[in-house]
Amino acid sequence: MTPSSSSRPFHHPQPGSALHCGRVSLEALVKRFGTPLYVYSADQIVERLGLFQQALKGRDHLVCYAVKANSALAILKLLADRGAGFDIVSGGELERVLAAAPAAVGRVVFSGVGKTVAEIDLALNAGILEFNVESEAELALLARRAAKLKKKARFALRVNPDVFAETHPYISTGLREHKFGIDIRQALQIYMSVAGSRWLEAHGVSVHIGSQIRSAEPFGAAVERVSELVGQLRSEGIVLKAIDAGGGLGIDYHGGIFDAAAKVGEYAGAIERALGSFEGRLLLEPGRFLVAQAGALVARVLQVKRNGTKTFVITDAAMNDLIRPALYQAYHEIVPVRRRAGRPRVVDVVGPVCETGDFFARDRKLPPIEPGNLVALLDAGAYGMAQSSNYNTRLRPAEVLVEGAKARLIRRRETIADLLAPEIL
Ligand SMILES: *Cc1c(COP(=O)(O)O)cnc(C)c1O
Repeated sequence: MTPSSSSRPFHHPQPGSALHCGRVSLEALVKRFGTPLYVYSADQIVERLGLFQQALKGRDHLVCYAVKANSALAILKLLADRGAGFDIVSGGELERVLAAAPAAVGRVVFSGVGKTVAEIDLALNAGILEFNVESEAELALLARRAAKLKKKARFALRVNPDVFAETHPYISTGLREHKFGIDIRQALQIYMSVAGSRWLEAHGVSVHIGSQIRSAEPFGAAVERVSELVGQLRSEGIVLKAIDAGGGLGIDYHGGIFDAAAKVGEYAGAIERALGSFEGRLLLEPGRFLVAQAGALVARVLQVKRNGTKTFVITDAAMNDLIRPALYQAYHEIVPVRRRAGRPRVVDVVGPVCETGDFFARDRKLPPIEPGNLVALLDAGAYGMAQSSNYNTRLRPAEVLVEGAKARLIRRRETIADLLAPEIL
């Protein structure tokens, strides 16, 4: 019933029916939970995790889902139950893992350019798998905290391989000029300088070159450079147990023909080749690829308004609910939940927030849409709710997870009391 891994879980089972997530009608979900509403297919998330696990089954590996893409507790649990680990970038994300899947804490890697003492201590006490360390100073801090708490800290240096990956400049991270990682040319010396340390264990090396990268080649190039470093370290007597190839595998937001299994195969193949004779464990940190296409943001059309030559479709969802178009000029396909006959029109789809940047689509040719209709913004499962805010004192959407023929609320809609609670008059 659900379309294969090659497409999205959102489809019309019959030409005249409402858009469904797998086997569940979005109209039915909106009746129960209102709009704006994030809807995710658990089945697709599980299937995508399986693609990575399958592609790497010949090798010791661990898929560490990048929590920042979508940190819903129910999604973390879904993935942890199927063997995933996690890539976190804050103490808050570690708390989410501890709340959703405490037994998975030994499968957590901690990335990020600025870790506080409190975050490091939390992670040391929790017993995470690996700290991905981004500077020499951070490594020194980690050593001090580990000594203080008498906990061995397994670390990887996050190296900057100086590989260019073609993507949006805000989400490209693998060039020397970026704030991320340690120049790969300095890494050898840093590993050697802490080789005798009592509380530090050189566990691995990590790399993450950016996000929404569509071609496998830059991943191969980055891992190749990392493999060379691992070889050099070995000849100095430092044997690393893990190579963390990061995340960043992109999806097709334009809805063209997209074979997810083939994409993962190509990606895993490029990394496999670059690993050469490395016999340790491969860690991967996919975020977007696991959850983006599984999710949609469903909104109701409030008004359709003409200003001069332009037509604006105003929805009850806004940039505070999904900021990607405003932040990265990102494209999200928008489809009416119920198709109507009639001529398509060129419209802007916008939210009610008081910013000209509050748009979902500009000059987009869409089928006829009337006030009161429902529309779905597709591929919104990653960096959607996770980047939402309360700007304009808007309540963030509810979230629903669809599994087979069942749907359940995984986050209730916020209330005004939630928003005002921390404030002091
Ligand atoms: C954001 C991030 C990821 C996930 O990136 P995706 O593009 O969502 O796959 C993985 N690792 C690190 C270190 C990150 O910062």
